[in-house]
Amino acid sequence: MIEINHLRKSFGDREILKDIDFRVDPGEVISIIGASGSGKSTLLRCINLLETPSGGEILYKGKNILGEEMSIHAYRTKLGMVFQQFNLFENHNVLSNCVVGQMKVLKKTRKEAEVTALKYLKVVGMDQYVNAKPKQLSGGQKQRVAIARALSMEPDVLLFDEPTSALDPEMVGEVLKVMKDLAEAGLTMIVVTHEMAFARDVSDRVIFMDDGVIVEEGHPRDIFNAPKEERTKAFLQRTL
Ligand code: ATP
Ligand code: MG
Repeated sequence: MIEINHLRKSFGDREILKDIDFRVDPGEVISIIGASGSGKSTLLRCINLLETPSGGEILYKGKNILGEEMSIHAYRTKLGMVFQQFNLFENHNVLSNCVVGQMKVLKKTRKEAEVTALKYLKVVGMDQYVNAKPKQLSGGQKQRVAIARALSMEPDVLLFDEPTSALDPEMVGEVLKVMKDLAEAGLTMIVVTHEMAFARDVSDRVIFMDDGVIVEEGHPRDIFNAPKEERTKAFLQRTL
């Protein structure tokens, strides 16, 4: 579905991503793990073009996004993003958070958008909170609304950047449960995470990044039980 070849990203004269090759197929759940500063967020932000790559190509269903074959706008509507800090619109209630993007970007009527929003608020178990403002919600509830908001755009791929890292420990489980349900329902997901149990148990493929490169990738069983690279072994020893 998305194929990335020789992706590079520099900030000034610092090269943060160095020749990254990456692909995600429909229905796949990929976890990206690695130490702080290894380039995980930068990779996600390049995938959804929140950052402009310095080099390489991004193909979406075979079409080159950085060339002329598909508009960046059309491409962006195919990707959803869930952030560590939720990024909800604080002055909008829960329903409105899930409606505004649909109206603005997908040009849906409010009625249509509300039907879709309610469907996904139900999926994340937040349909009882449509009138609440974000500040009235717990962190776990906010993140579930953020997931519903992303799903309401009916993207082909959902990207998560450490969706549970800002949560109190007792709220991590409810968010991971929603993500696990989505994975099992067949949603294509790319998840940057420090939750090794999620990476091991839910993903189809794990990617270990270090210092701007993909050091190793494979089935979670192989990455966690039999890592080949010294850097992967050292990281897992520090983390597990
Ligand atoms: P973490 O686990 O802490 O979130 P990460 O793997 O997501 O780390 P990135 O946020 O991708 O790492 O950052 C990789 C490197 O790129 C870091 O050294 C960071 O300082 C640098 N970097 C990221 N964004 C920018 C930017 N906009 N300008 C300059 N440097 C940046
Ligand atoms: Mg990051």
